[in-house]
Amino acid sequence: MRPARALIDLDALRHNYRLARARHGGRAFAVVKANAYGHGALACARALAAEADGFAVAFIDEALQLRAAGITQPILLLEGVFDADELDDVVRHRLWIVVHHHAQIDMIERRPLPTPFNVWLKINTGMNRAGFEPDAVRAAWQRLHDSGKVAEIALMTHFARADEPEALTTAEQIASFDDGVLNLPGPHSLANSAAILGWPASHRNWARPGILLYGADPMPAQDNGLLPVMSLESEIIAVRDIAPGAPLGYGARFVAAAPTRVGLVAMGYADGYPRRAAEGTPVAVDGSITRLIGRVSMDMLTVDLTPLPATGLGSKVELWGRQVPVNQVAAGAGTIAYELLCNVKRVRFEYTG
Ligand SMILES: *Cc1c(COP(=O)(O)O)cnc(C)c1O
Repeated sequence: MRPARALIDLDALRHNYRLARARHGGRAFAVVKANAYGHGALACARALAAEADGFAVAFIDEALQLRAAGITQPILLLEGVFDADELDDVVRHRLWIVVHHHAQIDMIERRPLPTPFNVWLKINTGMNRAGFEPDAVRAAWQRLHDSGKVAEIALMTHFARADEPEALTTAEQIASFDDGVLNLPGPHSLANSAAILGWPASHRNWARPGILLYGADPMPAQDNGLLPVMSLESEIIAVRDIAPGAPLGYGARFVAAAPTRVGLVAMGYADGYPRRAAEGTPVAVDGSITRLIGRVSMDMLTVDLTPLPATGLGSKVELWGRQVPVNQVAAGAGTIAYELLCNVKRVRFEYTG
């Protein structure tokens, strides 16, 4: 059996969820969109079902999969609906929806809908991607209220730079939100993971933790006590000594400067390990850190075993997890942990906890 696997620690997931809710207070939607950031939405939702206040997904198909698997908690659609006929399923499956655009209010007004459902009205406070302008919130709120089809209207916004403690934009977004919703009733939800960890002024009724549930810390400069949930693992499947001047792999990106002991690892970009990972990206072999050398190929990659003479065929490799923070691999690949985690595929998924 090919040794490549993603080991998912559901105890760590529960630990991170509890930490998020304790840091924020109030209630927390566990964000499990995009297959729980690549960790398996059903397994993660089931693991959290006994304690999560609800789950957030991007769109209705993701919600229906959770309902079909027996998840009964509130489920929030972060992008809301795209077509009016989705509203029938919203009612049937007791989903909550974000409303961020006038066209979505039109759909609600026009569609006969037998049972009121909860809406989260999204306010654009500076990200300029989705949501009503602060001076248009009141009118949108009134239309939703007057439609008679909506139960509770919550008020939400989303931050552009909450992971930058020095950036003033988050404080400005909070102020803009508070201005826009002044005197409107309903619970508030502002905080994503970074705001939960770094922006107490954003802590209101509901948090929306995503990446922190999976233990990839968006504010790594402080020690937040998150536990990595995914270990991407494999083994050394061949060892070769190459002489100074010998090239390694596609494009000869790496050329040995000294005698080099090369370990071949069963893991490649078809598994989601980034091809653009830089020379020297950390890799753990039998618990010691060494470095990626040579280009990542589709099914394999190569690491430097020269400093680890005790390692060899069958040695355990961790590409990211407890020993190698996924944030470090992301930095070495010019991207963010979110993208790496979402893209893991083909490997076997195994669950513990
Ligand atoms: C994805 C998403 C989140 C979670 O963000 P993280 O940075 O992963 O915590 C929260 N709110 C909204 C609206 C989202 O789309």
